[in-house]
Amino acid sequence: MNVNFCSLSSGSSGNCYYLGNEFHGILIDAGISATSIRKFLKDMDITMQTIMGVLITHNHIDHIRGLEILTRKNSIPAFTTHKIWESILTPQRKISRDCIREIPLQQKFHLAGFDIEAFPVCHDAPETVGFHICSGEKKITIATDLGHICQTAAPYIKEANLLVIESNYDEQMLVNGSYPHYLKARIHSDHGHLGNHQTSVFLADIINDSLSHICLAHLSKNNNTPEKALQTLHQTFSEKGINLNGQQIISILNRHIPSEIIRLVE
Ligand SMILES: [Zn+2]
Ligand SMILES: [Zn+2]
Repeated sequence: MNVNFCSLSSGSSGNCYYLGNEFHGILIDAGISATSIRKFLKDMDITMQTIMGVLITHNHIDHIRGLEILTRKNSIPAFTTHKIWESILTPQRKISRDCIREIPLQQKFHLAGFDIEAFPVCHDAPETVGFHICSGEKKITIATDLGHICQTAAPYIKEANLLVIESNYDEQMLVNGSYPHYLKARIHSDHGHLGNHQTSVFLADIINDSLSHICLAHLSKNNNTPEKALQTLHQTFSEKGINLNGQQIISILNRHIPSEIIRLVE
């Protein structure tokens, strides 16, 4: 079955990604308002009734801003681990209890025609996961908030045909920027975010012909630009003697505007 991917929003202000086949769809994170999610999906002729669930990576607001309304108004089931649910379900947050689904780490479950596995990543939340999602032969990996690529996460990332990976900050912009020291240290740490250089070096290591689409995601508003993320990637590849042979499509996901729909054909 063909698979369509679209980033509705990606960055430190809000993350939400859509993955669908001809019958159903799922969302990964709900970090923008439910109103925006509905509007962006409608613009693609996708109704909320076809959304079978939302997968949640962690409890930071840029990943769960629209979750209350999605569960209460649209009754969309939300899937994440026990530990992440514990961190989300505060008394102030009115998530519909009927929509809570607990999933184990690193065990496949089936939803909307997809086989899905949550894998742990290193980030400064009580627990954070990435998702590895398979539809037939096609494999999609989403890893948006991680300070470094640990040994557990690496195999899920290496297997992807479509990879959504964080490229949060430009090193120079972060160092020279206005953030207080503690925040710079947090972003830079092993439990913070992936910078352009880290991501590029890792991609240079794993690039292969079955990795057909690379989407650089979760760009910082203050410490990065799409041009810098792309330039760092090309420069790192050229330093390592890697020539992109036309097999890979590289996209930079916009912070506020939905991406083009990426179609993986079986
Ligand atoms: Zn985030
Ligand atoms: Zn986060």
